[in-house]
Amino acid sequence: MRGLEARQPCRVATRVLWISLRRGIGGNRERLVITEDEALAHILESVKPLPSCRVPLAQGRERFAARDTFARLALPVFDNSAMDGYAVVAGSCGAGQSQRVVGEQPAGIDRKLRVGPGEAIRVFTGAPIPEGADAVVMQEDVRREGEQIFINEKVAPGEFIRRRGSDLSEGQRILSAGEKIRPQTQALLASQGFAEIDVGGEVRAAIVTTGDELIQPGGTLGAGQIYESNSILVRALSEKFGVVIDAVEHCPDEAPSIEAALRRGLKNDVLVIVGGVSVGARDLVRSALNSVGAQTDLWRVSVKPGKPFLFGRAGQCAIFGLPGNPVSAFVTFLLFVRPALLRMMGAAGDALLLAKSEAQLTEAVQNRSDRPHYVRGRVVHGKFTAGGRQESHALHGLSRANALLRVPPGESFPIGATVPIVVLD
Ligand code: AMP
Ligand code: MG
Repeated sequence: MRGLEARQPCRVATRVLWISLRRGIGGNRERLVITEDEALAHILESVKPLPSCRVPLAQGRERFAARDTFARLALPVFDNSAMDGYAVVAGSCGAGQSQRVVGEQPAGIDRKLRVGPGEAIRVFTGAPIPEGADAVVMQEDVRREGEQIFINEKVAPGEFIRRRGSDLSEGQRILSAGEKIRPQTQALLASQGFAEIDVGGEVRAAIVTTGDELIQPGGTLGAGQIYESNSILVRALSEKFGVVIDAVEHCPDEAPSIEAALRRGLKNDVLVIVGGVSVGARDLVRSALNSVGAQTDLWRVSVKPGKPFLFGRAGQCAIFGLPGNPVSAFVTFLLFVRPALLRMMGAAGDALLLAKSEAQLTEAVQNRSDRPHYVRGRVVHGKFTAGGRQESHALHGLSRANALLRVPPGESFPIGATVPIVVLD
């Protein structure tokens, strides 16, 4: 099956329900909330890597290796010169001694030259080391007179020779399955002669936003209306790591419109719905998912902001319902959607994780709520300062933030405390 594991809908829902009840979170079904870890574990277990494909090496950037890769060449490939200079026998090269230049060895061709004591061969950077030579003396460190060179300083054996295999041995692992392909990785693969690379599959996603009050940017706002900003947020966050956004649709809070958009969106690997997943009378997404035959695996996670987050499935499509408040959408995307998309793209291990660091608090931070709170702020020179209003609608503060601080429920961090942070940029 592509992307998702086949599962018994009822079994999953029951399992999540029981986890929550056992922990005593919430008293009845409506107030049921599961932890971030439970939600993420379930999501990562549910989504599967898409089939891999082979792409030209240049197109592999930011994708994930589909298999382990091993060096087929040692690096350097052969002993060669690190400098423009002269290949010599170090033992005959004391300070002031002269050597006779007996040949020239350029880069790019092996002239199979030999050098003996008292002799030197002119070499250039990257040139094969002539037989018998055990050092290269830099051209700046000699004085040349006709076919003689005079050595300024004693030459040590091995000097300026790049030995075969000193960087990488044949057969050594150069890439692990699930690892991100970075420009440096591409360069290494190129140096091994690979013109193509096997990478994880491309994820295609649709975005559906909901809300009667929302107007597309560029339109004219009426009284009580606001501009729709979540689709561009989700799109940009997804495209940043190579997800292909097939369609972006907006629906008013009307069941037929939402259901039609969901049906279209479900043809993709992933459907991200924003807004309408909470408990209000106009929050129609859950019932619409039900109507189109999708299953809801989990709904409401103990996280602030972002509690109404939803995850479900329909056939091969993974469905994410993000709360409409922009900061909630942002945080739940990072916590739950991002790792799922990455896993589908073939990422594994560290490549699934958000970049973490540590910072010192410039002020005390307290979380009085019963949910972990992701506080938005800025890290400058290792110091974290919470910024803007810490409310789920406060998009300006979010736009200034370059880090998130997770404060566990009931926790107080004093000024000056060193805390783990999530790095956003
Ligand atoms: P909802 O999750 O639909 O209850 O929406 C919660 C809040 O987020 C409301 O104030 C909405 O107006 C706002 N909101 C929902 N969707 C969007 C969106 N796509 N862009 C900007 N604000 C939104
Ligand atoms: Mg709404």
